[in-house]
Amino acid sequence: MSEPDGRTPGDLTRTGMALKHDREWDYELDRIKEAVEAHDATFVGLQFPEGLKRRSTAVAADLEQLFDDDITIAISGEPCYGACDLDLDLLRRSDVFVHFGHSPMKESDKIVYIPLFSNVEIEPIIESAIEELSGPDVALVTTAQHMNRFEEMVDQLEDAGFRVHTRRGDERLTHTGQVLGCNYESADVPAPEVLYVGGGKFHPLGLAMDHPEKEVIIADPVNNLVEVADPEPFLRQRYATVHAAMDAESWGVILCTKIGQRRWDIANEIVKRNENAHLITLNEITPDRMQHFNVDAFVNTGCPRITTDDGPRFPKPLLTPGEYEIAIGNRDLAELQFDTFHGTW
Ligand code: SF4
Repeated sequence: MSEPDGRTPGDLTRTGMALKHDREWDYELDRIKEAVEAHDATFVGLQFPEGLKRRSTAVAADLEQLFDDDITIAISGEPCYGACDLDLDLLRRSDVFVHFGHSPMKESDKIVYIPLFSNVEIEPIIESAIEELSGPDVALVTTAQHMNRFEEMVDQLEDAGFRVHTRRGDERLTHTGQVLGCNYESADVPAPEVLYVGGGKFHPLGLAMDHPEKEVIIADPVNNLVEVADPEPFLRQRYATVHAAMDAESWGVILCTKIGQRRWDIANEIVKRNENAHLITLNEITPDRMQHFNVDAFVNTGCPRITTDDGPRFPKPLLTPGEYEIAIGNRDLAELQFDTFHGTW
């Protein structure tokens, strides 16, 4: 599973150059041009999340027109799901490396992150969400794509009489109020309700699973929808998977080799303590790649959303490290928690 890519249509209101072939998004070509000139770059790498790869050649074509002929632009064809997932080979080769669709997980001089801020109007959906909030205390979170409107959201809620609680979680997050599919620390504030502003259910469901003590209200400006997140179906699926793994006699422990997903200590600890657990390194964790391993169940120490969101597609039970501890009897089922990622690399 992945961080959903920036995909919100909207008018182009930010300053900066737009992609000629695509008026929906601000690709901030001016910022890329500045970085290329500052580095005297002759080789520029571009990386797009899966949902935006179809736009990549148009972006490259527009960039080529901005530069002299002696600049080579290369597009990463590797899968990409988040800022945790940089194409290290292309990064190494590039003088400037442009990562689209996510905000920085770790800054680097030659990496330019283009989050693709959304310009969709926020005010109407906040107005609708206010009807659902009990208040007066509310936590406010959103994704990188809507960070350009975060202050507007706070102001609108405060003008309506709410006490808005915001914080920036750990260094895995770039902004105050930002959430990732694997990190909801920005919602760790003294408020019983969380207002999540953003498209889709990927983030709010993770948020609701990670903070079962809070009510999560989804304000989706893309689909013009306000609703309460319901993590119950997800939780039932997790309980069922843990139960299915309780009889496992052999385990594959997956260490993901993506730069921002390596939890070596956790993976190593498991295989050291269990002689029937085997360490398996993988870059792409997919059902196809797992089917050849002769084990009864897997523990995934990489992206937790692969486990919780894609887990049912795998041929054997796929557990988070915490769920593994329950399955082998080290913890009680009542201690089942959402798996979160902290820090960078
Ligand atoms: S590890 Fe976190 S940031 Fe990376 S793809 Fe998974 S949810 Fe997104």
